[in-house]
Amino acid sequence: MLILKGIPASGGIAIGPLYVYQKKTVTDFAQKSALTPEQEHRRVEDAVAQAKSQLDELYEKTVRDADEAAAQIFDIHKMMLDDLDYVESIAAGIDDGFTAEHAVNETAQEFSAMLLSMDDETMRARSADVQDISHRLLTILSGADSAAHQLQTASVVGAVDLFPSDTMQLEKAKLLAFVTEQGSKASHSAILARTLGIPAVVGIRGLRNALIKNETVIVDGSTGQLIIAPNDETLCQYREKQESYAKERELLNAYKDRPSITRDGVSIEVCANIAYTADAEAAVENGAEGIGLMRSEFLYMDATDFPDEETQFHAYRTVLTKLEGKRVVVRTLDIGADKVPTYLDLPHEENPALGCRAIRLCLQEEDVLRTQLRALLRASAYGKLAIMFPMISKLQELRRAKEILAECRAQLEAEGVTVSEDLEVGMMVEIPAAALLSDLFAPEVDFFSIGTNDLTQYTLATDRLNERVEPLFDYSDEAVLRLIAMTAKSAHDNGIWCGICGESAGDLELLPFYAKVGIDELSVVPNKVLEVRRAITELDVSAL
Ligand code: PEP
Ligand code: MG
Repeated sequence: MLILKGIPASGGIAIGPLYVYQKKTVTDFAQKSALTPEQEHRRVEDAVAQAKSQLDELYEKTVRDADEAAAQIFDIHKMMLDDLDYVESIAAGIDDGFTAEHAVNETAQEFSAMLLSMDDETMRARSADVQDISHRLLTILSGADSAAHQLQTASVVGAVDLFPSDTMQLEKAKLLAFVTEQGSKASHSAILARTLGIPAVVGIRGLRNALIKNETVIVDGSTGQLIIAPNDETLCQYREKQESYAKERELLNAYKDRPSITRDGVSIEVCANIAYTADAEAAVENGAEGIGLMRSEFLYMDATDFPDEETQFHAYRTVLTKLEGKRVVVRTLDIGADKVPTYLDLPHEENPALGCRAIRLCLQEEDVLRTQLRALLRASAYGKLAIMFPMISKLQELRRAKEILAECRAQLEAEGVTVSEDLEVGMMVEIPAAALLSDLFAPEVDFFSIGTNDLTQYTLATDRLNERVEPLFDYSDEAVLRLIAMTAKSAHDNGIWCGICGESAGDLELLPFYAKVGIDELSVVPNKVLEVRRAITELDVSAL
């Protein structure tokens, strides 16, 4: 028995035989070309055209098996095939007398190494996409067999890395789970696993040497463990765990349509946090009463340039439509600090968490904010939208953001576009100044949502990303709790609602405190919604 540990990417337990997914690598090609550069250029053009039509097919299949949002990656791949730097690098290789295969391979190595060396996790994850499209081109150029891998029986798929196109080509009904040596939580295969609802563990060091065909394995997607050739005792334990996990989910399912009301009748809404439009499905399936936080920056992180109004409008409309009239809180762009898309050339900052991020950046780059607000306002006609501004520390920032919003609304109405009349406008309370001045902010918004991740970081001067100060990063610190209580009181004194959308919203030990200070809404990852709701129904606030 061998136990390997990786990054938990999608929860649940799977037990089954291992299918070793080996890429049909194309390495056997000449370097120096016997053709003219013009002929090699034409070969690349034909291969790109063929790759695009394969990607169209994959897009359609993914829409059928998962949803449109999950399929978007294949549209991104198509765009990557047109990326000027990528195309020119291949062309330069050919002009130097190399074969199309060699030029594509060299470009792939260079670009993916460059992406892998970046600090940002999302960008590192893009390295796999460059390899994916290049592998597709190489397979086409060399005429290699690109037939899909066939799973004979329900299996756990193990691979050094799985590209999104690999994952989608596998038969969903037989895919129990997947485990990879490379990849991160933000990699598209991990996202697809969450969308498809199968367990996945990624980033398992040394996995390639432990992949044995048909060996029985256990995948615990919640803890990130992979157990290879488990002994009978472990197998038994995990079968029980799997059963109790399934039973627990079944028990929790009973809370799906129940109201989130404490024993003494206090109502606390339980909503879901989402990053991608595809996550809206998981929110609905888990009985969320709405979306408490859509981190819109992921639309920007995954693109090769700022997403235009149309692209954003479609994304917001998809989520609003899926939520069928339940409230969707979309937070405006919160980039900067640890979330910087590559196409954004921001100057170096010594303290990025205290720097030009989120609303500060948007108020400097007003056009970016205007595009997003126009898309949101247009989408507002398709459901119950709430717009939330992040990282507000000053009244002037909130007022300016609201002014811009009003201008965008007036502009759209003049264009004859329908904008919802019930749109709520709120702000994140995640900077201590906002909590301390919450009595001044409250009359100017429809709601507060407390971001306890940043509120804890800034209150305790403790970097949320630095594992060396991790023990000091405490959501239940008295200083943080006082700011929360203060914010909730200001909200209620002014007749507005107050939620929490930081990670601590799902902390069941803090639930009694949150209930006591009158928090109206908790927004958590989709698969925590029912657990939080159950805990609420077991609570008696009057006895606290
Ligand atoms: C927070 O700070 O608590 C929050 C929800 O925002 P993010 O984690 O995206 O910074
Ligand atoms: Mg935050």
